[in-house]
Amino acid sequence: MIDINIAINENEKHQETPVQYYEKISKIIGVNLFVKHDESIQYYGGGNKARKIKYIIKDMKNKANAIVTAGGLQSNHVRATAIQCAELGWKSIMIIHAEEPKCEYYEGNLKIAKLCGAEIRFVDKKDVSKEMDRAMSDLKGWGYQPFYIWGGGHCVMGTYAYYEAVKEVKSQLSRGIYPNYIVLASGTGTTQAGIIAGCNNAFPNTKVFGISVARKKERGTNIIQEAIKEFYKYFQIEYTNQNIHFDDSFIGDGYESIYPELIGAIKWAARTEGLLLDPTYTGKAFYGLMEYVRIGIIPKGANVLFWHTGGLLNLIANKSI
Ligand SMILES: *Cc1c(COP(=O)(O)O)cnc(C)c1O
Repeated sequence: MIDINIAINENEKHQETPVQYYEKISKIIGVNLFVKHDESIQYYGGGNKARKIKYIIKDMKNKANAIVTAGGLQSNHVRATAIQCAELGWKSIMIIHAEEPKCEYYEGNLKIAKLCGAEIRFVDKKDVSKEMDRAMSDLKGWGYQPFYIWGGGHCVMGTYAYYEAVKEVKSQLSRGIYPNYIVLASGTGTTQAGIIAGCNNAFPNTKVFGISVARKKERGTNIIQEAIKEFYKYFQIEYTNQNIHFDDSFIGDGYESIYPELIGAIKWAARTEGLLLDPTYTGKAFYGLMEYVRIGIIPKGANVLFWHTGGLLNLIANKSI
């Protein structure tokens, strides 16, 4: 058993996000569906990037006063980081690997990042790390103490945030309810790595199913394995190879690609019980969950916790749903 509790003081902890039982959906699909609502985190626009950035920045306080990070046009991580930096009065430069939108106003996450005063630089995908270096040296030249954060908030403190979040779930589920399965959308894999590490501690018999939103199975699995290893090393805990379930069969044609079954699942969940999902992340994960139940990978009657990681701004910014 491990129990790490160092980074965030009690009084700095955010309020817990609810775990809700979805009665109608449960009845229809034949499992007990609980949803951990991290989209409802009350700061930095919510979602898993808000939970992560709080831990990441906390670790940098007293060392930094500016941030460089990167992401796509509708990056939730960029948005959460921009809000956090504005709150602290830190300068931020966002390296966006896309062309600048041609419309008069930006949309969704990008709009919020700009509104919060982030400097936004649009670059070619292949130039991201070069441009991050350049932004770092610009900031140093201007007298700042900058730190960089990898896209998606992929780092040990990001993993740690979700290790702690599993403890939060454990304290919330009433006695006797044990999640047999946790299903979530997996991108950089940081969130999944933290949940796996957390479950080793809190729910050792729970299977964690990551549904990939972009990466191929082998690459995604290796990166999650590395993230868990790095996390345990950081906290000087002995590490053994983990069983990692990272499924790339619900991606469609790639990141942000949509397909009819995905749209169908999103519409169905919204109409059936007001469960709002987005087409980039949570919709793919939820469609995967439904398929797992249909095919029998998740047996009927199981307790399933769907970890809602956010994405409402992606839903709003998407024009094809
Ligand atoms: C980034 C993101 C994910 C994936 O999280 P990772 O930790 O990068 O795997 C899932 N859902 C939403 C809404 C996200 O913004």
